[in-house]
Amino acid sequence: MVVRVGILLVLLAVAVGLFARRARLLYRLIRLGRPVMRRGDMPRRIEREVVEVLGQRKLFQRLLPGLMHAFIFWGFLVLLTTIAEALGQAVERDFAIPVIGRSGWLGSVQDVFAAMVIVGIGIAVWIREVQRPERFVGSHKLEAFRILGLIFWIMITLFGLTASRIAIGLAEAPTAWTPISTALSHLFAPMSRGWREFFVWFFLWTHLLLILGFLMYLAYSKHLHIVTSAINVFFANTKPRGTLTRLRIDLEALESEDVSLGAATIADLSQKELLDLYACTECGRCQSACPAWNTGKPLSPKLLIMDLRDHLLDEGPKILAARESGAPREPVPLIPDVVDEEVVWACTTCGACMQECPVDIEHIDHIVDLRRNLVMAESRFPQEAGQLLRNLENSGNPWGLPQSQRAAWAEGLEVRVLQAGEPAPEYLYWVGCAGSFDDRAKSISRSVVALLQRAGVDFAIIGEREGCTGDPARRMGNEYLFQTMAEQNVETLGDAAVRKIVANCPHCFNTLRNEYPDYGGSYEVVHHTELFARLVSEGQLTPTQEVNALLAYHDPCYLGRHNDVYEAPRDVLDAVPGLRTVELPRHRHRALCCGAGGARMWMEERVGKRINAERMDEASSTGAHVIGVACPYCLVMLDDGAKDRGLRTEILDVAQVMERSLGPLPAP
Ligand code: SF4
Ligand code: SF4
Repeated sequence: MVVRVGILLVLLAVAVGLFARRARLLYRLIRLGRPVMRRGDMPRRIEREVVEVLGQRKLFQRLLPGLMHAFIFWGFLVLLTTIAEALGQAVERDFAIPVIGRSGWLGSVQDVFAAMVIVGIGIAVWIREVQRPERFVGSHKLEAFRILGLIFWIMITLFGLTASRIAIGLAEAPTAWTPISTALSHLFAPMSRGWREFFVWFFLWTHLLLILGFLMYLAYSKHLHIVTSAINVFFANTKPRGTLTRLRIDLEALESEDVSLGAATIADLSQKELLDLYACTECGRCQSACPAWNTGKPLSPKLLIMDLRDHLLDEGPKILAARESGAPREPVPLIPDVVDEEVVWACTTCGACMQECPVDIEHIDHIVDLRRNLVMAESRFPQEAGQLLRNLENSGNPWGLPQSQRAAWAEGLEVRVLQAGEPAPEYLYWVGCAGSFDDRAKSISRSVVALLQRAGVDFAIIGEREGCTGDPARRMGNEYLFQTMAEQNVETLGDAAVRKIVANCPHCFNTLRNEYPDYGGSYEVVHHTELFARLVSEGQLTPTQEVNALLAYHDPCYLGRHNDVYEAPRDVLDAVPGLRTVELPRHRHRALCCGAGGARMWMEERVGKRINAERMDEASSTGAHVIGVACPYCLVMLDDGAKDRGLRTEILDVAQVMERSLGPLPAP
């Protein structure tokens, strides 16, 4: 026994020691990053651990891969008990976990889950080798098979151990409760007692060696996620997905200190962004959902994360060593050494990657941090985007038109323009730059006004005092310009004592609702479809005229995926008499972006297929005559896409469809 204990302690010391050594290095690498506050909202974090980690919610979005992963994951949780038993039995042959160790239910659960892990491995191999989904392009196949192989042999040796123990009468649980192991124990029946004893010894020690080897391999492999994914989910942002992490810019501090703007080197990423890199499973779900990747752009969110991770593991230890020794070290620029500049500009910030990612990696934060450095520190951006920034700086809107024309669209509509010192209305209608300056989007603003007036809502606009929310500047990476615009708008809204805002642009809606609170502006912000759905349900808006058309509703990313507003626009459309609706193949949280987000509206799409054309090809497959939208950017992009494809499909905002169905004013 002393020898056995000695051997076990040596093995444990080596395995745990090597694991701890590696874990310490990985932790120190994370500490290289910018600190980020992610400790609040504990109930939400705990809920996510339960639902996403234990319940595997995101993985079950696709049944077969979900089952595969859940079998292996849940199996591993249960098998923590078998590992404890094996460690105990290496010391004491009769060892069983106190209290529960000899119960039939535990034996059953262990038996079934061990089998489920093997089934899960079989499904994983089948998916990778037979189905071969495109999402695995670029993933490390060999390493994934090494991990699956290790798990497989851990399970085989576990069954060998329990079956051989049953064969010599050492079963922990009553054999009727462990049908698989009991059936396997018959394989040992023809053997002598000596051989059975040998197999108990053989399977016990190979099982333990494989588990300890697995522990060490994990820490040194690129499949670290088995350890880190639950931690990453815990520290994920609890705000709506469309909220960017704030970067406070103090120009005086910038001049006096060596402060980085955005991410120039790996150490400029935040600690959560660095933790993201350890959590990636290389599953490719983000890649297969990415509109940029799927239309031939060089951006794959998966490859971006993998490239950054490889760089962190390569460069990080050198940075640590240099800091310890005080030796000078030339920082390696992430762009272009690790990430191609085109990759960074291809992103529409649609959030499809983050929606799909089972371990809550925040790709958009990475991309925007890279953009922030390019734009603010190096003044590098696509040429057309320079025009956008100049327009925002000089005119306060992306169109570069004078502020004096901001409310021109409302002429003749009898819209109240809130003047300084006047009492605030119930709702401030935040028109947005598109609804104020773009000819096609102005018709949405007019429809919104018609509906608000018909419903008798007390509302007003602030006309020339409204400035761009700063969304395009922020998504493009110019955090300083965004900050300036946000502070200006917050001051204006504060002076006007605004408490409730209705916005028809999901980008304005997202920024006002989710990002302005960081700048002191907290309002009750609703999207126009939410307000209209309520007015319809309360009988204040009653559509009466038939709209005879087949309509497919396109979910805008900043309304749906980023803010979970899926029902309200559908409720409004369902209330329109005569209107028939059909869902696009990719809808709700899986909806394909129109291509305009992330300031892409103002950049040329030179590589691959245009995203709006891809979306219109999809839309035309439904046979719909009308594509319903709830965003002025989507309206413009899809209208362009329809023209590009030679389609006669009409693109209408939900408000425009609703206005058509209102009919004449009832007699006074
Ligand atoms: S946000 Fe959208 S475009 Fe950007 S990487 Fe993610 S999926 Fe691709
Ligand atoms: S980033 Fe997330 S979705 Fe993409 S490959 Fe990694 S784990 Fe999968």
